[in-house]
Amino acid sequence: MDIIYQNGFIFGFDPGACSSCPGNCCRGESGKIRVNHNEILDISSFLQINVIDFIRENLVPIDGGYSIRERFTGSEFECLFFDSRNNHCSIYAHRPLQCRSFPFWDVFRTDIDALIKECPGILVGEKLIKEQVTCVNTTNGQRKDDESE
Ligand code: SF4
Ligand code: SF4
Repeated sequence: MDIIYQNGFIFGFDPGACSSCPGNCCRGESGKIRVNHNEILDISSFLQINVIDFIRENLVPIDGGYSIRERFTGSEFECLFFDSRNNHCSIYAHRPLQCRSFPFWDVFRTDIDALIKECPGILVGEKLIKEQVTCVNTTNGQRKDDESE
């Protein structure tokens, strides 16, 4: 799977790491999982739940908006929509922008220590260079193949 880069961030992200990760970004310390108006409509429609009931049962008011509730497992918090049996988001195709944009959050432009500990898909330093060298070699190999045709 291709490494993802974004301007202004000093790391790369390997989405392939998610398949062997226990879902660290959906569990652990308590946090805010913001959902906007359109996302609330989309998720409630996907779950076939009346919007009012959806808000009451799954969201908490926060900073003038809403955050998805968390459940406490006894040792950590996890998002209400996290399927811990399968380490998977149960509303994956409808997850809010905050989740879709992870790990490229403003807070991680300057401080990535906590991010590196949490997310095994983060590539920095030697890991990042190794990945880039592999990518360049692969691209060169492709060009050679193309030229020989
Ligand atoms: S913490 Fe990183 S590797 Fe793990 S599921 Fe989240 S984005 Fe994927
Ligand atoms: S909505 Fe899905 S991706 Fe976002 S925190 Fe909850 S389980 Fe994780």
